[in-house]
Amino acid sequence: MTDVVTMDKIVSLCRRRGFVFPSSEIYGGLGSSYDYGHYGVLLKENVKARWLEAMVRDREDIVALDSSIILHPRVWEASGHVSSFSDPLVDCRTCKLRFRADHLAESQCGKRPSKRPGETPECDLTPAREFNLMFETRVGAVEETGTDVYLRPETAQGIFINFKNVAQLARRKPPFGIAQIGKSFRNEITPGNFIFRTLEFEMMEMEYFVPPGEAEQWYRYWIDERRGWYLRFGLRESHLRVRPHEADELSHYSSGTSDIDYLYPIGWSELEGIANRGDYDLRAHSEASGTKLEWVDGVTNERYVPHVIEPAAGVNRSMLAFLCDAYDEEEVAGRERTVLRLHPQIAPVKAAVLPLIGKDSGMVERARSLFEELRGVALVEYDDSGQIGRRYRRQDEIGTPFAFTIDEQTIEDDTVTIRDRDSLAQERISLGRAQGHLLDRLGAPWRSPKPE
Ligand code: ATP
Repeated sequence: MTDVVTMDKIVSLCRRRGFVFPSSEIYGGLGSSYDYGHYGVLLKENVKARWLEAMVRDREDIVALDSSIILHPRVWEASGHVSSFSDPLVDCRTCKLRFRADHLAESQCGKRPSKRPGETPECDLTPAREFNLMFETRVGAVEETGTDVYLRPETAQGIFINFKNVAQLARRKPPFGIAQIGKSFRNEITPGNFIFRTLEFEMMEMEYFVPPGEAEQWYRYWIDERRGWYLRFGLRESHLRVRPHEADELSHYSSGTSDIDYLYPIGWSELEGIANRGDYDLRAHSEASGTKLEWVDGVTNERYVPHVIEPAAGVNRSMLAFLCDAYDEEEVAGRERTVLRLHPQIAPVKAAVLPLIGKDSGMVERARSLFEELRGVALVEYDDSGQIGRRYRRQDEIGTPFAFTIDEQTIEDDTVTIRDRDSLAQERISLGRAQGHLLDRLGAPWRSPKPE
């Protein structure tokens, strides 16, 4: 069976339900920029929380960091970004569009979208030029005395330059890691496919410092760990693949990189990159700053520059993958329903509390009291407006895994039904058990009911 999801359906649902809107819309919008509404924020925060738990809470060898977005400009010279963080671009003198030279085969000609740039006789492409992706800005009030700085294009360098601080203060010994979530900025010039590629985005990066002889083993380990994380939170195995980079694709610092790709509606595309960066970064910053970034064993006095394994994931691309994987349509009792089959721990809202009849004061009172009780342990929504069927549909579209419905019987015997978003099964339980029941269901393993 083919998947019903398309990028247009995701964009439309995200807009309709207030997950994501085009940015600066009242001014005509700004390309490759998006704003996140209520459910988008909740979903994004859940992605980040699950990552941080897996990286920091559930382990003893990784600590957290939050470094600045604007760093000393020499950081980016030492890291190689000033000289090498660029894409090769070509311009078309006829249609005035700009394309990535390495993506021409997948691009569309501005005048004849059925052709690729360069394919029609009218196409007039310039030779490829390197275009640096870093955004520049200035620190300082006075133009002439200000300092040119960059908005960071990745969070990793903020980790490397803090290696000494963390190694000393966190009392960790290799192998150990430093994890960071934060915004990054890239002056991407090619169209973005919704939130897949944007000018600003959030990254979840972890730099894992290891003894040089162990680098390959930890590189393999982190590929498996990170793939496992996506599977644990519901992505279907058939839609995930690990793709090792070819030698000519490797970044200047990398001795091995594998992408975890997801089968988005636009085709297989990178979700996360896992790189074996060797000792490139710590050496480069040691040389440029004059501060030795190395590991010295307090007991044996052994010293070495650790090698680094880096899993680098995009929050927004992960969110898009979770949305695409979850999107489903089905017919129930002769009516179409759209449903987001999100993992309960990723879903923005965990449960809805719904009085069957919104005007019945007895039902409303019980429902409000259940809502107050549940909101203490999970993000829940109360809704008493409109027909119950409509309210279920709305919760289905935002991916709420459970709905508690208060009806006549609740008033008689203090029971409530809990409706399962995926199976539509309704179970009646006592009101007193509702909170415990919800927590059990939220903590239980979950698999997508969508076919692989
Ligand atoms: P691509 O080849 O798609 O441009 P990349 O290889 O340059 O990506 P990395 O530098 O490895 O990306 O960044 C790590 C992760 O950050 C990517 O896997 C992706 O999830 C995310 N990411 C990178 N650039 C963007 C962007 N412009 N918008 C949204 N997410 C991004």
